[in-house]
Amino acid sequence: MRASVIDGKAVAAEVKAEVAARVRAFVEAHGRAPGLEVVLVGDDPASHVYVASKEKQASAVGIRGGVHRLAADTSERALLEVVAGLNDRDDVDGILVQLPLPRHLDAAAVIDVLDPAKDVDGLTAISTGLLWSERSGLRPCTPWGCMRLLDRTGIPLEGARAVVVGRSALVGKPIAAMLLARHATVTVAHSRTRDLEGLVREADVVVAAVGRPEMIRGSWIADGAVVIDVGINRRPDGSLVGDVEFAAAAERASWITPVPGGVGPMTIAMLLSNTVDAAERRVRSR
Ligand code: NDP
Repeated sequence: MRASVIDGKAVAAEVKAEVAARVRAFVEAHGRAPGLEVVLVGDDPASHVYVASKEKQASAVGIRGGVHRLAADTSERALLEVVAGLNDRDDVDGILVQLPLPRHLDAAAVIDVLDPAKDVDGLTAISTGLLWSERSGLRPCTPWGCMRLLDRTGIPLEGARAVVVGRSALVGKPIAAMLLARHATVTVAHSRTRDLEGLVREADVVVAAVGRPEMIRGSWIADGAVVIDVGINRRPDGSLVGDVEFAAAAERASWITPVPGGVGPMTIAMLLSNTVDAAERRVRSR
């Protein structure tokens, strides 16, 4: 294998150590820990596992908070009231509504009522506008974690040709904005893109956020390119695989993230980092 593997677990551990130190300083200065509240609606098993992990990792770095578990048939009005209640609580710095929501609930309506100052998932229209206008704000956790991994490689992004495959509001679009802000030349590909292979072949940086196992073939990767694989796909045998054909891509890339152990661990680490950011901003803005 030619590529160096970007160790997301190690970088996430570094981020969490930084967060723990900032939490200690915050407690010393303000007499309370930063607070993160998670709202979880319904019984989606993956969401329950994910939220339990957030809760455990938050408490490990000293962030205080809890999980509001609501029944699957919760009305939109009841959910909006829970979020509004958390908006009003002064000890709450970050609010995260776990997605996806049950079908009868409109995620956009819920995100719209969230106080942008507490938007630690970086998904409100205000956070999105701040990102695209390159002003400081809370950034979506997964792409923000990808940027941290890219920085870890030390490769210059300025002038680099970056291809982002996927245009979701959660990953593809925000990472495109982040790469653009770092002066990369960014192409965003999606399901209607013609000649994806040709685009990927030209890229110095490839970010795959599609959700299709190994759809980016290793032979498409340019010599020396950096590959960030956001995809998490479960094989029939239960193992996880990314959107990139890892072994073949690693023969050509200079740096590559594995799945699991690449982007995955960064998401919660950046959520915790955003929570401390939000807490510090809120006390500064008083
Ligand atoms: P979405 O399903 O919201 O978006 C997928 C994107 O891929 C869409 O923009 C879609 O295009 C595009 N796409 C689908 N098929 C093709 C194709 N054949 N060629 C090119 N583009 C295609 O997914 P997310 O962005 O939410 O997630 C992407 C992946 O990342 C998933 O595997 C998910 O599990 C993983 N993920 C991992 C996280 C982590 O590591 N913590 C966090 C978030 C996501 P179109 O818009 O045209 O439909």
